[in-house]
Amino acid sequence: MSSQPDMYLHIDINSYFATLLQQETPALRGKPLAVVKDIGRTCVIAASKEAKALGVRTGSLLPIVKKTVPQIVVVPADFALCWSATSKLKTLFESLSPNSELFSLDESFIHFTPLNRLYESPLAFAQKIRSDIFTVLGEWVTCNIGIARTRFLAKLASETASPDSITEVSTQQEAVLLASAMCSDACGIGHRLEKKLAALGVHHPYQINFVPQVDLERAVGLFWTHQLRLMAQGNEPLFLRRLSQPAQPMKSVGRSITGWRLCSSEAMIKRTLYNLVAEVAHKIRRMHLAGRQVSLYVSGGDQQWSNFITLPHHVWHTKELFYWIYEYLYQKWEERFPVIRLAVRLSLLESWGEIPHSLLPAWQKDEAVATACDAISARYGLFAVTAGILARGHKIRPEVTGFLGDKQYQFL
Ligand SMILES: [Mg+2]
Repeated sequence: MSSQPDMYLHIDINSYFATLLQQETPALRGKPLAVVKDIGRTCVIAASKEAKALGVRTGSLLPIVKKTVPQIVVVPADFALCWSATSKLKTLFESLSPNSELFSLDESFIHFTPLNRLYESPLAFAQKIRSDIFTVLGEWVTCNIGIARTRFLAKLASETASPDSITEVSTQQEAVLLASAMCSDACGIGHRLEKKLAALGVHHPYQINFVPQVDLERAVGLFWTHQLRLMAQGNEPLFLRRLSQPAQPMKSVGRSITGWRLCSSEAMIKRTLYNLVAEVAHKIRRMHLAGRQVSLYVSGGDQQWSNFITLPHHVWHTKELFYWIYEYLYQKWEERFPVIRLAVRLSLLESWGEIPHSLLPAWQKDEAVATACDAISARYGLFAVTAGILARGHKIRPEVTGFLGDKQYQFL
């Protein structure tokens, strides 16, 4: 028997946030869109393919974009639209293969090797996926598909190809791809790693092969040296290899917010902390988890402060979590400074089935109230019922993170 190399597909929707908005609203099609988190925000979180062609990038600042691209159309993100499209994609990929892995909101990997009797070739399979995506999400939605021996190479191929294309990388072509792609195109090489590599004269992943071991270790440490060596050969670094393993139970849930300007209003900080705590509690309750390590982090200007407490018992009520965050941790903070970022976290999570529930009447009452609130928010959304402290004014709502940190929670 000839030994065929393994084959993976990487599927990536082009300009996801913007494309979905264009699919939804035909008047926006063909126009350069800059998607912002909310009206009034200045950071571009996504750009349509028309905007990208004019040089607009994720992370561009709106006032600068408006000078160079005056015809730019600014639209607020529709996170609900994204989530619903992502669950449709997830359902589609799972119907095609049990070996599909959602990697981010608009990216998935599919292991082709177990399917090779069902399709003529990986290319034929990719073409089917492309037309299925049209059917499921609409005719305006295009994707890139990379096909290669590893997930790392498949993603690198789709990442570096032009929009709406299928790219197959044979084993003979791997070195060419690794030598022509930029380090910043490689999944796993972030901005900091990219700078360290540039200092060693490395701009393309393939060049990593020629850096002496001592130099690489000195620049990036032992762990990353090993990961980079794998990537330079087109092999999978640890975080991609882990994708095929079953999901680990969540160990902690946190939520942070960065404000628009420094804040020293005690009332505002208290309200914001309550808001963050309510979201964390909502999430852990939906996952039937409770935690016993509570942490708080604040920063402003160039100062930061953090503290945590490990409790002997688990907490899973907003009220209790807020007590530990605000009354206990926050009130202990002595050298106050104006803050711009607040973060709360609940760790050492365990499932409700594995921890004792309190028998105290007051706790039982809180639990009954929380359960009733869960039922209402499951139907009408988070904050449909909430404490008086959040009754008026702007609420911070859950956000989706590109990397799907909340994957397990969102797809319950
Ligand atoms: Mg994409």
